[in-house]
Amino acid sequence: MSEVIDELRELYQALIIDHGTKPKNFRKSLDASAYAEGFNPLCGDRCELYLKIENQHITDACFQGQGCAISVASASLLTESIIQKSVTDALALFNQFQNFMTSEDECDVDLGKLTALSGVRTFPTRIKCATLAWHTLKAALEQDNAPVSTE
Ligand code: ZN
Repeated sequence: MSEVIDELRELYQALIIDHGTKPKNFRKSLDASAYAEGFNPLCGDRCELYLKIENQHITDACFQGQGCAISVASASLLTESIIQKSVTDALALFNQFQNFMTSEDECDVDLGKLTALSGVRTFPTRIKCATLAWHTLKAALEQDNAPVSTE
């Protein structure tokens, strides 16, 4: 059993390194309909998130910014997870992910690749790195233009 967990851990690490060094959807959008920026002063991570929302569906999502591998990987995974989702489903996913990152319990919803960030939960100071993009997402969806700070 522990071998399986070790293998999973390695797989997760590889996924985070992959997304952290070669993030997906890492670009600026010129026709975004929603935008928000977030800052995590604990680590210095910055995230600028662009969304294109049509008929209450997210048809495109991309981000720019700089930060540690965890924050970049999380933002990259976020954009992959929300494209083609409805605004309602994306907000539900925010809540599920937030619960997943801040509770000890196993998650009863399938978060797919986002599960790779589970290892971060053992490092409380890095949880904000992983949730920054998600708080930024929430602000963008709610059209809240005040910059997000995780502090
Ligand atoms: Zn960070």
